Amino acid sequence: MNSIVEGVGASAGRALGVVRWIHWDITVVPHRTIGPEEVEAEVRRFDEARAWALEQVTRLQEETTRRLGPFEGKVFESQAMMIEDPELIAGTVAYIRNNFLSAERAFDWQMLEVRVRMHDSVHAMVLDRLADLRDIRIRVLCHLLDRTEPARAAANGTEPAILVAHDITPSIAAGLDPEQTLGIVTAGGSRGSHSVLLARALGIPAVVGVGAELKEIADGSLLLMDGRTGELRLDPSPPEVEGFHRAAAHAARRREMLRKVSGRPTETTDGVHTVVQANLDLPHEAEEAVRLGADGVGLFRSEFLVIGRREIPDEEEQFRAYKRVVEAFPDQEVTLRTFDIGGDKFPIFLSMPQEDNPYLGWRAIRVCLDLPDLFRNQLRAAVRAAEVGNIRVLLPLVSTVDEVRNTRDILHQIYETLESAEKGRRILVGVMVETPAAVETLDLLAPYVDFVSLGTNDLTQYVMAADRGNAKLARLYDPMHPALIRLYARLERDCARHELDLGVCGELASDPLGVSLLLGMGYRKFSVSLAALPEIRELIRNVSAADLHDVCRGLYKAESGAEVREPIQRYLESRAGFGSDFAAALSEE
Ligand code: PEP
Ligand code: MG
Repeated sequence: MNSIVEGVGASAGRALGVVRWIHWDITVVPHRTIGPEEVEAEVRRFDEARAWALEQVTRLQEETTRRLGPFEGKVFESQAMMIEDPELIAGTVAYIRNNFLSAERAFDWQMLEVRVRMHDSVHAMVLDRLADLRDIRIRVLCHLLDRTEPARAAANGTEPAILVAHDITPSIAAGLDPEQTLGIVTAGGSRGSHSVLLARALGIPAVVGVGAELKEIADGSLLLMDGRTGELRLDPSPPEVEGFHRAAAHAARRREMLRKVSGRPTETTDGVHTVVQANLDLPHEAEEAVRLGADGVGLFRSEFLVIGRREIPDEEEQFRAYKRVVEAFPDQEVTLRTFDIGGDKFPIFLSMPQEDNPYLGWRAIRVCLDLPDLFRNQLRAAVRAAEVGNIRVLLPLVSTVDEVRNTRDILHQIYETLESAEKGRRILVGVMVETPAAVETLDLLAPYVDFVSLGTNDLTQYVMAADRGNAKLARLYDPMHPALIRLYARLERDCARHELDLGVCGELASDPLGVSLLLGMGYRKFSVSLAALPEIRELIRNVSAADLHDVCRGLYKAESGAEVREPIQRYLESRAGFGSDFAAALSEE
């Protein structure tokens, strides 16, 4: 039966393949008691297993660093920390000594206690770390029970497939072969999970947070998944399968063709010049952005440098990361967004408070201003990177003028501490417009900011009161809803009035229909995901800004997102040399 299940799109890309379910947990640990004379030997066995697990994790960290990069390798730091946790060790040893339990049983009981404590939390960071905890549990238990590790063995099968599991641990993710794993689908996890970070680095599409509906996906069945939207099509129909293959073949041919024209400017058919920049999560992606012809970086999500880290990266480390991106774009803008932590992205070194509503909580600029040492470090590293190239800082989730003023004060203090020769290299400061407050008070913010970047992902959730990660609300979470397009129009007008440089870095700019809408509304600067960059540039070269302006003129009266999309879709299909096949392929990607 053809049906659709919604999850959270966590690693972009579409995949079609046979489902391979993996069950890798050790559910039953045999109950074994020991005599008092065996206690010390059992404690030693536990210590050995711990030391062995730590060695494995360290090796995995080194391997991952070599294969994917230093930031990806750091994912395993938190596991090393958990293995050495004094409470975990003391608790296990107490079970062995006081209850005469075998090392494996004692360890499992202790892990159960920790898990129950974590499960009680609704905090996304804590829930994310459950996968790390499971990783350690399996590793230590396998050693104690003398079993081979099931996880890594099961993950890479003999035929390419879409991997489906309740959860994927970072160890499984790090060992995946992208040739064999077409995609990953899990019941748990979030965009900030360690496993997701690794999947993205490997270029494997992922949909997470599917919840109980995961059981609808049968082993061996055919699945069509979209790692951007989070949509899962179970048992797709023959026309859907055919559509996927057509789009994939088309995309491959186009990618080849686009590579050849990547140096050409991105102008519409009526000669309107646009700027198409790249959204980056990690520094090494800058090189690919250059290859794809990006006009600089419109959004570098710096928080991915710290998610899952157990210590704050120092100024020097951050400087090197920012410098790497700036050096890739010596003549173009690099927009460094200051840490957007909170919501669904957390570093371990911060003990984030448990919040009922993390997206409305202690997040982004609010965290940074409350932790001046963290913020100052980052800003100093950015100011130093400005010596090398054209870096500017972008503040996330701004809702008050004070947030910008206070950031500027910190920057001024930093300038004062610099050597006199370096003084005067002022860095441009911009704000993400992603709260209704920022749209509403742009005139108040304008005197304090140099540029503005529209964040449609968060603005949509705050305007529609629909959590961006909640699959049940996917229909309501529509960045093309009339409420949103009216705000986009207003923002464009207000920025022009205040002569503010305006760009869009939300996902809407990576969507063919979305970028067409924005072009029609007068937007000229876009920052898009790497996966979408070639197609978006090609689309812009094939449309007329004047035509799109006419198409969009009447849209303010539309009653729904569907009514907004319909005439734009029709226009794209009507473009000569840009036929319906191409438009359909684009909207399918
Ligand atoms: C946005 O909110 O539109 C945005 C680009 O930021 P993020 O998706 O990282 O929250
Ligand atoms: Mg945002």
